Amino acid sequence: MPNISEMIATIKLEAKGAAPWTGSAEISPRVLAAMAAVPRHAFVPSNLQYSAYDNGPLPIGHGQTISQPYIVALMTDLLDLHETDTVLEVGTGSGYQAAVLSRLVRQVYGMENISALAISARRRMQRLGYENVEVVWGNGFNGLQQFAPYDAILVAAAPQQVPEALIQQLKPGGRLVIPVGNPGYSQDLKVFLKDNRGEVSVKTVLPVAFVPLLDLTMADPASQANS
Ligand code: SAH
Repeated sequence: MPNISEMIATIKLEAKGAAPWTGSAEISPRVLAAMAAVPRHAFVPSNLQYSAYDNGPLPIGHGQTISQPYIVALMTDLLDLHETDTVLEVGTGSGYQAAVLSRLVRQVYGMENISALAISARRRMQRLGYENVEVVWGNGFNGLQQFAPYDAILVAAAPQQVPEALIQQLKPGGRLVIPVGNPGYSQDLKVFLKDNRGEVSVKTVLPVAFVPLLDLTMADPASQANS
């Protein structure tokens, strides 16, 4: 039953091992400090507490999972965050990733389309005192126009292709970190960078496995209820 500092040690090791793909053997100290300060056990179901600091994904109900800690660290690191940033996270699930982001930036907006998860994540944020996280219940396939543009966008579920709206909602200089690919297969973790002239470049970082980002754009009572 590993503790939180063993989880951080494992993340460091995995970062070294993944360096041939990611091009970097280290996660920044700022990101590791944020990970060390968020109690992952508070985001994990009570019957899985003994696994809370394992470096693996865990079920959170409704067929969804809380991501593997190393992947949370890597995605956060790839966003290259600053204290003044406003960040959108699509696929908030338990709220764990949003809590990690909240320690590094000014404001986090999290979108979750399963209402039960959105409600429990919102309550959990309040209980744990993450005051700069707002959990929005709704379809995040096309981002969240209401608070756009964002300095950074993190998507914790995989679409088959990157939704154009997410790139549009990035500020110049902004980054989008997103897994792209088909459900059930290995997907590619990608980083889209919008430069100061608005031009977009993309690089592929690592093969990953995420739950699908549902395209609910056609019929979406959840997001209408929310707007
Ligand atoms: N970041 C989460 C991981 C959750 S898994 C955590 O730290 O716990 C991905 C989540 O994306 C699931 O909860 C799923 O319900 C949600 N999701 C899938 N498609 C979505 C969509 N179109 N809009 C918003 N959330 C979506």
